[in-house]
Amino acid sequence: MNKLERLKHDIMSVHTFEQLKELLVDLIEVVDGENTTYEYCSCCEREVEIPADTPSRCPNCDQPILPCSTCWDDIDGITRCDWSKEKRCWRFPKEG
Ligand SMILES: [Zn+2]
Ligand SMILES: [Zn+2]
Repeated sequence: MNKLERLKHDIMSVHTFEQLKELLVDLIEVVDGENTTYEYCSCCEREVEIPADTPSRCPNCDQPILPCSTCWDDIDGITRCDWSKEKRCWRFPKEG
């Protein structure tokens, strides 16, 4: 069982605020440590591993790619990714 799986299990047995606090501290560690994500590249049609917190380029075809599957659980906002070709998304808006 990895740490995240264990936390999912532990959250079922939280009874006190202290327990909840401990759980959240652990959860933040897990989220912070997880800095890559798998994204589907629409250009080369492959699943590629990229940094989870910044726009980057596809390691396979070098096209710009966003870690949009992590927009869901971004800590600062729980807004769903609203990606479009023109504006990109709320988390990584197009510059200029
Ligand atoms: Zn690609
Ligand atoms: Zn996004």
